[in-house]
Amino acid sequence: LGKSLTNTMKKLAGMTVIDEKTIKEVVKDIQRALIQSDVNISLVLNLSKKIEDRALNEKPPKGITPREHVITIVYEEMVNLLGSEPHELEINDKPFKIMFLGLQGSGKTTTIGKLCRFLQKKGFSPAVVSTDTWRPAAYEQLRQLTEEMQISLYGDPDNKDAVDLARKGLKKFKNQKIIIFDTAGRHKEEKDLLDEMEKLSSVIEPNEAMLVIDGTIGQQAGEQAKAFASTTDVGSIVITKLDGSAKGGGALSAVAEIGAPIKFIGTGERVDDFEVFDPERFISRLLGMGDIRSLIEKAEEVVDEDVAAETMNAMLSGKFTIKDMENQFEMMNKMGPMKQIMNMIPGLGGKVPKEASKMTEDKINKYKIIMSSMSTYEKENPKVIKQSRVMRIAKGSGVKNEEVKELLKYYNNTKKAMKGIGKRGMGGGSMGRLM
Ligand code: GDP
Ligand code: MG
Repeated sequence: LGKSLTNTMKKLAGMTVIDEKTIKEVVKDIQRALIQSDVNISLVLNLSKKIEDRALNEKPPKGITPREHVITIVYEEMVNLLGSEPHELEINDKPFKIMFLGLQGSGKTTTIGKLCRFLQKKGFSPAVVSTDTWRPAAYEQLRQLTEEMQISLYGDPDNKDAVDLARKGLKKFKNQKIIIFDTAGRHKEEKDLLDEMEKLSSVIEPNEAMLVIDGTIGQQAGEQAKAFASTTDVGSIVITKLDGSAKGGGALSAVAEIGAPIKFIGTGERVDDFEVFDPERFISRLLGMGDIRSLIEKAEEVVDEDVAAETMNAMLSGKFTIKDMENQFEMMNKMGPMKQIMNMIPGLGGKVPKEASKMTEDKINKYKIIMSSMSTYEKENPKVIKQSRVMRIAKGSGVKNEEVKELLKYYNNTKKAMKGIGKRGMGGGSMGRLM
């Protein structure tokens, strides 16, 4: 997946305008990518319709390339489905009863061990009840897991009545703060398994039913989730086996199908291979892109387009004052390093003045403080800043005279460089029009 989508995005990289045909192509590529990643077809169609509509109708914010804009839309639509923040497991009742559900082999028992460790780290000491009467040695597997962590366990390998085991476990642990119920994932018939879950649920009355889904199963996840959700009110989903190459796209179908949030993921067989689900990371992984966070942050920042245009104009015409430089620094904050800004200007080909590319954040901050001690008159007419004004500005901003002089030197060099670029690169064109 990562590869084809990355190629798609590369296709878009150089474009400053995206037409309808291109957007449709991109959306097709995204569809293909998501389907390859095991996301359910109707969900893909649904998502891609929204993405296409938005990409066609929304104008990219300033400073955001069309390519970045499309990625942002894809991301936002995924977030609509998954949420943007991790979902907490809220322990708000006593005893707080967690019932696990899921097919055999999905990772329920392993995940219970992981969840116990997770809760222990938070200061809880959960108790576990085994009701899986189908898997040979199911009790033994739990016994080993819980013994290591010194977790109380109730089970009886000779009792083949799951509901009875649940009742007895409830009674035994009624004073515990958290009780976790392991269940079977197999029966003679699927219907029998679902019946058993329904009965268990009505006896246990879980505060949280956790559905465990194997991250490698793909499309079937939606159907599975639907079946289990018919037996009890599923409160959260755990996706396991995300340590391999699986991207867990199938889990999206489960979420879309039953509307329960994903709260945890399993990333290995060991008890510590367990993480709180982070939608952002999951989506980055699904899309095969690592830089979504920085991209989203960039998109969220609205650049003041008038100031930008004005400053660019001033910079390139040579009428560049310290006031403009101050604006420039503001823009740098919003849009990233000068280099990036220059790269966005058509015709410049990324020719960044040496002075500008040497600026560090510390220096920018210091310069900002110095400039804030200058009067508007001084900023608009930097030539008037002679020794006595330098001394006053230095005193006002708490820096050495030399540092004010350094800023003035930087200003003069930048002005010169800008003028040079303006003549060479722009052919007298208006920046206002291009921004
Ligand atoms: P259950 O039948 O649902 O209780 O599933 P188990 O907990 O017994 O797990 C089935 C198999 O999946 C075991 O071999 C586990 O070690 C393995 N497993 C569970 N979770 C993960 C995971 O996150 N990553 C990997 N690689 N294996 C897992
Ligand atoms: Mg099990």
